[in-house]
Amino acid sequence: MVGDSVGVQGLAPALAGGASLQGTIQPTTGIPSLEIATRTAMPDNQTIDRCRGTLLGLAIGDALGAAVEFQRPGTFPPVLGYRDGGPHGLAAGEWTDDTSMALALGDSLVNRGWDLADQARRYVAWWREGAYSITGNCFDIGLTVVGALERFSADGDPLLSGDPSERASGNGSIMRLAPVPIRYSGLLGADPAQIACRAEESSLPTHASPQCLSACRYFALVLSGLIEGVSREEVLSQEWEVFEREQAREPLHPAILAVALGSFREKGPPEIRGSGYVVESLEAALWAFSQAADAREAILAAVNLGHDADTTGAVCGQLAGACWGESGLPAEWRDQLCGRDQIDRVLEPLIAARGT
Ligand SMILES: [Mg+2]
Repeated sequence: MVGDSVGVQGLAPALAGGASLQGTIQPTTGIPSLEIATRTAMPDNQTIDRCRGTLLGLAIGDALGAAVEFQRPGTFPPVLGYRDGGPHGLAAGEWTDDTSMALALGDSLVNRGWDLADQARRYVAWWREGAYSITGNCFDIGLTVVGALERFSADGDPLLSGDPSERASGNGSIMRLAPVPIRYSGLLGADPAQIACRAEESSLPTHASPQCLSACRYFALVLSGLIEGVSREEVLSQEWEVFEREQAREPLHPAILAVALGSFREKGPPEIRGSGYVVESLEAALWAFSQAADAREAILAAVNLGHDADTTGAVCGQLAGACWGESGLPAEWRDQLCGRDQIDRVLEPLIAARGT
């Protein structure tokens, strides 16, 4: 039995005792023996392909959606490939905050192991200095994240910087999640709760609402299953053993549970909305992914929902890349994606870290 000593709930005693993380760079979780606990066998080539696909799919979906962000579905010519323009005036193939924050998170996992304060510091470096940006500047940070990073900058506590209220349930922590399953999916068989707990904790510095935390737990398990070669049908089934065990250990928020139980199969647009609300965003990405014939079809269905198109694309892109792998992502989207070196500088050591 895993769980009582890990995860968000396991952090409460330390906080209640007045422990402060300020000025420390120790792992912020209660998870002991991190080095041993997370070591898994080096992945085979197919698993590597799916790991690479998870982050590249995120960036590709982000870049495809960036040109139509904030537009209502049906009001723009359907997206079929990269376009320039959009609210941030990007070049075709450039990506936004979704990918920048994922690179920050991945870079932290590579360089610091599990260190929530370091993750938050790298988000601040993106916000303040343009680190991890494709343009060298932070051009698209949302109010929820600014507020959280301002609180973190003031008191250095990543456990308390994210707004825990339900109204602050944006999709900003599922959009960047890929590095967590890429690094830890090998634990799926032995210790899936640890994947879920880390995903949940990764949300805390910026998105601490119950919906956001549950969404990260569920999304990380689905992505991990796909990376480990579990079929799409199985990971999306309410009878998937991993899902059933995690639900028994710590039930999901009811709104996220409804998605996990298949709400996305019973709806279509306009009920399916690519909004910034984490529940709708996850549901929309699963709607697009679950019925697509391939990665191209999945990601295009997601971004053509408009509204928060880059993030719906990024969430769906993670699913599509984890399922069909880098090799299953359209070649022209891989080749024309901007900042490939920047992504590979994080992605390659992140995958290598699975075996350490
Ligand atoms: Mg974005």
